Amino acid sequence: MRTMIELTDLTFDYPGIRALDAVSCRIDAGSITALVGPNGAGKTTLMRCLCGLERPLAGRISVDGIDVIDEPRRSHERLGYLSDFFGLYEDLTVDRCLRHAAAAHGMRGALDGPVRDTATRLGLADRLDQRAGDLSRGLRQRVAIAQAMIHAPRVLVLDEPAAGLDPEARHTLATLFRALQAGGMTLLVSSHILSELEQYATHMLVLEGGRLLEHRALAGMSDQRRTLALTFSGDAAALAARLGARSDVQGLDITPARAVFDFAGDERAQAALLRDLVLADLAILSFGPASSDLQARYLATVGQHRAGA
Ligand code: ATP
Repeated sequence: MRTMIELTDLTFDYPGIRALDAVSCRIDAGSITALVGPNGAGKTTLMRCLCGLERPLAGRISVDGIDVIDEPRRSHERLGYLSDFFGLYEDLTVDRCLRHAAAAHGMRGALDGPVRDTATRLGLADRLDQRAGDLSRGLRQRVAIAQAMIHAPRVLVLDEPAAGLDPEARHTLATLFRALQAGGMTLLVSSHILSELEQYATHMLVLEGGRLLEHRALAGMSDQRRTLALTFSGDAAALAARLGARSDVQGLDITPARAVFDFAGDERAQAALLRDLVLADLAILSFGPASSDLQARYLATVGQHRAGA
């Protein structure tokens, strides 16, 4: 898989605060990466650095092979960015907003085609003559995303794009992101609504306190690796020992009634694991894929990190 985004030891300080602490990762072309972490984790700072809007204290950032710090203008051609608190020119029509964004991205010549195509993709084709200030929250969000991608970037970076949207608008957004991915775009999306990210994310990147805790592919990306959850009653220590002794179980997170872990094996191996636990007289109440892989993994990662700290 080709690398589209590469961060190397990215470090960023605000006065008195280390917002990013030597973050390194590679993001595959054509992936949709969910950037998650508690408030103040550094998500917005990472996105702003990636888009060349903040200059890091140290480290390198490359997008599609272009160094963002050395060549910000060239990298901007590859990048689209939706800020968490975006503004629209309220008095401009949607058509004018998109033309303005196109000009700001340095697009020259006839803009009718790109404006019409982008508006159509975002379901805004019948809104082009409406004032941005007269649109609902969901439609404004779509105009802002249309502005961010009018220049057909290879990478779209969206900071909490679904904030304030109703469930139907969020679903529409998820469908759009999958369509953009199918068209070859790479997306990095932050959100606190994990169930929504789960609808489209292929990867998860967890930040906390400016540090990268985890970067992993989500379920469905590999048949041989899945996140399982089981509920049980009784002896948590015995269950932890049994699971902890297995080489095909990793990342075990266990509470008094529930265990979540990564399992490296196919369905037969999964069935064999269940048999092993039942034969060991452990009272298993339910067993299967974690219903919410992203949420389960996120809570397990953050929980393990805090326990370690
Ligand atoms: P949220 O989920 O709340 O949006 P976040 O993960 O996006 O948070 P950042 O906004 O990147 O986190 O903030 C990372 C850290 O940097 C926090 O401790 C925050 O208080 C601090 N910070 C952010 N912006 C500034 C600023 N302009 N000046 C000083 N400190 C800042």
